Amino acid sequence: MSESKNKNISRRDFLKAGALSSLALGPLLLGGCDSDGEQSFKGRGKAKNVIFMVSDGMSAGTFNMADLIKRRKYGNGSHWVDLYNSDRRFHRGIMDMASLNSPITGSAAAASSWGCGHRVNNLSVNMGPNGEEYTPINQIFKDAGKKTGLVTTTRITHATPAGFSVNIDHRNKEDEIALRYLQREYDVMLGGGARHFEAASRDDDKNLISKFADKNYQIVQTRQELTQASANKRLLGLFYDSHLPYSIDRQTIDEHQQNIPTIAEMTQTALKHLENQDGFILQVEGGRVDHGAHANDASGMLYDQVAFDDAIKVALDFVDQRDDTLLIITTDHGNANPALNAAGEGYNDSAPFFDRLQEFRHSNTWILSELDSHSTVSEIRERVEYATRLGIGKDEAQALRKALNGNLDTIYDIKSNPSSVLGSILANYTSVSFTSGGHTSDFVELAALGPGIENLDYFTRNTELFDLMVNVAGLNENMVLASQ
Ligand SMILES: [Zn+2]
Repeated sequence: MSESKNKNISRRDFLKAGALSSLALGPLLLGGCDSDGEQSFKGRGKAKNVIFMVSDGMSAGTFNMADLIKRRKYGNGSHWVDLYNSDRRFHRGIMDMASLNSPITGSAAAASSWGCGHRVNNLSVNMGPNGEEYTPINQIFKDAGKKTGLVTTTRITHATPAGFSVNIDHRNKEDEIALRYLQREYDVMLGGGARHFEAASRDDDKNLISKFADKNYQIVQTRQELTQASANKRLLGLFYDSHLPYSIDRQTIDEHQQNIPTIAEMTQTALKHLENQDGFILQVEGGRVDHGAHANDASGMLYDQVAFDDAIKVALDFVDQRDDTLLIITTDHGNANPALNAAGEGYNDSAPFFDRLQEFRHSNTWILSELDSHSTVSEIRERVEYATRLGIGKDEAQALRKALNGNLDTIYDIKSNPSSVLGSILANYTSVSFTSGGHTSDFVELAALGPGIENLDYFTRNTELFDLMVNVAGLNENMVLASQ
């Protein structure tokens, strides 16, 4: 590649696998530039650190209702909305999260769009449709001498953390993703998913826990161990076999509360471990907001969004003390588009109905784990009342019983499964309902603070965040080339 041609091609070129550098460049859009992102980028190299916070599957209604529930239950709105009401300097816009093959993205393609600057097909992680391997952003930061961290409430091998960290053709290969984490040696990894690290539950019987320990990682598996971890060693925290329990179930079950850290606690610890003179990148994912939406589970979803909001506070406190950190707060797609709906004369019932969620003890997912196809109508009513304090009708319990047996007909086919039916039953009492059980094409909420935000337009394409992060951290072509 000639020097002059070099200048006319986006820096993105250098971030791609070398052999494929002439393919599929895709648009480079930073601050409206059309040829060279670096030259027109304002504030290049001004951020030592990047914190990327993603509430997975947060629809507009989730954003709204988490603020409402905080306001009505605790007397203060969400930190995210407070940011918009503050006099801080911040960016706010919307973002188009489409993947390469669909206007509806999955989490893997979404995280990849930020993690490598390319739209990829759903289910693949930082890999193009012809097998191109795009260097993930954690690797780029690591090769530039910065520390790297991942925090999530899902399995640490799940799509969103993987999207900043590895190349793999299918997100479901989580045993393999754990192996790649071992090879790539990122500094801090905190979440669930112990099953992909333990010999007994891995297909290849490898004990990755001991292999990480051999590489001088501290391994922590409880909340107490996390708080006691020494800050000058690399850290792998696996606090549950699969995903961490929903916040509302954690709050109710003492053992979970003692043993499993909150996302805010994990974020706090990660920042303590990552802060250093050369900088870091940290991704924080509130991953189960998405699962709650898939399951039409208002309490599971909303209390996890509230917990994510507590982690936002930790990040805001961190950046408040400094001007060298870019903080991005966003979501990867809408999911099932929940909303608080109109209820009653003059909509007077909506708020008191919504307030019933404050009395819930468990997620819908927990309720369904207590039921099966043999559950009777009275058993169903008893379990629902125990978890929600709501006395549902016999006809409603009967509908759920049918759904549990796979023989309930609904007009919209996808609403016939037990999760959707339980979600619909509770909507009669809370006025919170869902449109489906899957992702949506909505443009998503995007907030950012710190150096480089002046490069963002009000409408952002997902891949632009990759350019923003790399440029604001001052990573240049040579550094990136060195990582290939
Ligand atoms: Zn997602």
